[in-house]
Amino acid sequence: MSIPHPTTRDDVSSEAARRRTFAVISHPDAGKSTLTEALALHAHAIARAGAVHGKGSRRGVISDWNEMEQARGISITAAALQFTVGDVVLNLLDTPGHADFSEDTYRVLSAVDCAVMLLDSAKGLEPQTLKLFEACRARATPVITVINKWDRPGREPLELLDEISDRLGIHPTPLNWPVGIAGDFRGVTDPDTGGMTEFNRTPGGATIAVGEALDAGEAARRHGQDWQRAAEEFELLTASGHEHDQQGFLAARTTPVLFGAAVLNFGVAELLRAVIELAPPPSAWADVEQQPRPVDAPFSGFIFKVQTGMDPAHRDRLAFMRVCSGRFERGSVLTNARTRRPFQTKYAQSVFGRERETIDEAYPGDVVGLVNAHALQVGDTLYESRPVTYPGLPRFTPEHFAVFRPRDAGRGKQFRRGIELLDQEGIVQVLVSDRRGVQAPVLAAVGPMQFEVAAHRLEQEFGAPASQEMLQYGVARRVVPEAVAVVNRQRGAEVLERTDGVAVALFNDKWRMRTIASDLPQGSLPPVFGDD
Ligand code: GDP
Repeated sequence: MSIPHPTTRDDVSSEAARRRTFAVISHPDAGKSTLTEALALHAHAIARAGAVHGKGSRRGVISDWNEMEQARGISITAAALQFTVGDVVLNLLDTPGHADFSEDTYRVLSAVDCAVMLLDSAKGLEPQTLKLFEACRARATPVITVINKWDRPGREPLELLDEISDRLGIHPTPLNWPVGIAGDFRGVTDPDTGGMTEFNRTPGGATIAVGEALDAGEAARRHGQDWQRAAEEFELLTASGHEHDQQGFLAARTTPVLFGAAVLNFGVAELLRAVIELAPPPSAWADVEQQPRPVDAPFSGFIFKVQTGMDPAHRDRLAFMRVCSGRFERGSVLTNARTRRPFQTKYAQSVFGRERETIDEAYPGDVVGLVNAHALQVGDTLYESRPVTYPGLPRFTPEHFAVFRPRDAGRGKQFRRGIELLDQEGIVQVLVSDRRGVQAPVLAAVGPMQFEVAAHRLEQEFGAPASQEMLQYGVARRVVPEAVAVVNRQRGAEVLERTDGVAVALFNDKWRMRTIASDLPQGSLPPVFGDD
């Protein structure tokens, strides 16, 4: 006799329907940490601002676990913050801000249903914003735009909208409009009332700023021409095809735009409302065969991130799983689609930096941290009863290469173990060759800061300090077996084997690569990954 499952399919569907899973994408310094804090504060997830991220002199208790992160004042780790607003459960996935961690960020973006693109009003679109926006576009992820730092001198709102449509090819649809110019910010129009929300300064952002609602008459009295101009511009925009279009937004053709000042908590309530009312709830997730698995199907999820040593007190390995379908129950035994092996979920947690809590159940859209997940890799699918495999996560073509060697010959074993783990976590890719030997692997990275993270972790976690020697290579290609010997004989080129068995050729630069390729049969040097 089978034991009836306590959760009906209806429960799972309604739990999924009340969830919103999103991430903030931005160029470093646009205000992502500040906005995260403000969002959490608004949702009463934490008692006071300054508790989410440790930056500068602000005391950080949640996301500053890593010494290096503290030293540099940047956020390297990604974790998930869950908070509830009314009946809606919001999952905010933290993305690392530094340009070198783009690979990690892309993986986080593969686990969300919506992204918030945060711009600095004085700077508009910046290089990292463009890259991250492209990653969202590739998955057709809906994007809400927030133009931040409106309390400071910045650019004209119309000019910023033009930049968004010209450079991103997405149609901006403002949900409100700033009253007063950047630097002399008076508030935003409120299309629901026909009036405005007045901006009240609360220095330090220590409290929740609730802007005062003014009707049109009062707005005109207090803000005269500024109000007039904002009301007219907004009306003109909405009348000329810039009105919010929910279908267009969900199809990633249009982006709703909001204006605010995260550091003063202004515009944050409007953003929360937009996420709740406009962002899509979790829906059927497509598997490798492009077959969607409905949210009320038996449990399934995929690993989008693996991290070891998050907490120096526990030498653990955490795998972050996004739930795609069904109800996750702590203690259940899942199957790993790659290995077909069972996986015990006795230790499941919600994790945001150092803060951890045991999770007993989770629903589509939620993120579960699985502790001691030594058998799990980034991209793995876990399921219950009905098998499914979700597509693997994108990897990116490395452009920086360094030979790592153990400083202390007696720590060779620890060094090799450390390298193996960094490889599995996807911190770096590991290339080896007989010529170089296992004690001198070549680490390959998208950005050089990944090497610093690798060196730091080898020393701190594995007690295996390593020396680094940068190699003069800048381009990687796969190489077909027939061409290996030829490439290896060339100057400015070398063939190594990646740990997944793929032969990878490194070249000084793309000119060297092209010269060598021109002497080889066509197709001898395919791209390392499909994306380049
Ligand atoms: P991140 O690198 O994107 O996480 O940026 P932070 O949240 O650390 O913000 C970078 C700097 O911009 C900090 O000094 C913030 O205090 C400041 N900042 C963030 N939001 C605003 C804002 O709305 N107005 C002003 N004037 N400064 C802001």
